[in-house]
Amino acid sequence: MKKTPFVTKEQLEEIAKAYPTPFHLYDEKGIRENAKAVREAFAWNKGFREYFAVKATPNPFLLEILKEYDCGCDCSSLTELMLADALHFDGEHIMFSSNDTPAEEFAFANELGAIINLDDFTHIDFLEQVIGGIPETISCRYNPGGVFQMSNGIMDNPGDAKYGFTHDQLVEGFQILKEKGAKYFGIHAFLASNTVTNEYYPKLARQLFELVVELKEKTGCDIRFINLSGGVGVAYSPEQTPNDIYAIGAGVKEAFDEILVPAGLKDVAIYTEMGRFMMAPYGALVTRAIHEKHTYKEYIGVDACAVNLMRPAIYGAYHHITVMGKEDAPCDHTYDVVGSLCENCDKFAVDRMLPEIDKGDLLFIHDTGAHGFSMGYNYNGKLRSAEILLQEDGSARLIRRAETPDDYFRTFDCFDILKDMKHPQK
Ligand SMILES: *Cc1c(COP(=O)(O)O)cnc(C)c1O
Repeated sequence: MKKTPFVTKEQLEEIAKAYPTPFHLYDEKGIRENAKAVREAFAWNKGFREYFAVKATPNPFLLEILKEYDCGCDCSSLTELMLADALHFDGEHIMFSSNDTPAEEFAFANELGAIINLDDFTHIDFLEQVIGGIPETISCRYNPGGVFQMSNGIMDNPGDAKYGFTHDQLVEGFQILKEKGAKYFGIHAFLASNTVTNEYYPKLARQLFELVVELKEKTGCDIRFINLSGGVGVAYSPEQTPNDIYAIGAGVKEAFDEILVPAGLKDVAIYTEMGRFMMAPYGALVTRAIHEKHTYKEYIGVDACAVNLMRPAIYGAYHHITVMGKEDAPCDHTYDVVGSLCENCDKFAVDRMLPEIDKGDLLFIHDTGAHGFSMGYNYNGKLRSAEILLQEDGSARLIRRAETPDDYFRTFDCFDILKDMKHPQK
């Protein structure tokens, strides 16, 4: 499907006057429409809730938007829990799906009344020691091992993943948790990532629904929710067909009606923990071409680099690029679009066919709304960019300022070794 930016060149130039490039820009309208569609697609399930995977885009302003659609937060660390709590998400709206979890994080999750999703059998004892008991509501993460297959072949390799309980550990774990006082149970599984097919959730759901029927028979536990977690992908490339969340919801319903309803489990709630699907298409990294270099290849140097968007550098991930104002120009130039890190993998695109780029052109790097800014780092002393929300009325709102050198040096605050540091003239 043709990919078009959610802003015009004129709008972007206007925003760039107030907030210099690079920055991540988010599309409020797109976020809202999609959050609404997700709700509608699962409205057939009374208890349905999307717990947004905070790690994908941990910005309080964006979480507040999702909150309006009754989304919760899926947290995996102390700071993510703190963020959810600061935004007044109550315990019921916080899922704590962590792994290799430090004691203080379990303690804090419990203090908030969050739903704790255990990653491992040994965490039953660990949690009990840390919080002095087992919460009334508890969830366990399942890993069936092997490979996860769909009609188009192997999608992922759970047997190689560090997460979750084995089948037998889950049966035994539920029994133990029940003996220790747990009353309400949930299961969770994340078996394939960035799936661009409407088949993934229904297939996963079928597997989990059958497991829940078995767990109920074998353990007698009161299973209240099934968490399909994340993994619903987006079409990063124009050659891919985007997922249809309505088709996905209908596919899950079909499995639900076939397996859970006859087993007397029609009141089980479906939860999701999508990150990418909720946010990726509604964010973009906006950067300006500042150099062109002609050596063995043609390079365009931009003012963003891999610290602003790491996916191309670490996974070779494709992110579509639009040269603003040249949307209809022929893509008759082959470029490597590169950042300034002293790392040769710092390339947003390699051998990409694009319109001729002039210095000063704005580049819109698509689909950075999830796992974009949040994966940022400070290598080469590079600073994190601003995040800006393009509001529904077309105005731009700063929702995180850019880092300054003072932020970067702040962790030396407790020493006086940098007290004579010179700052550049403004
Ligand atoms: C990362 C993660 C998610 C979100 O995954 P997406 O691919 O962004 O949908 C959900 N749950 C858990 C436990 C995760 O680790």
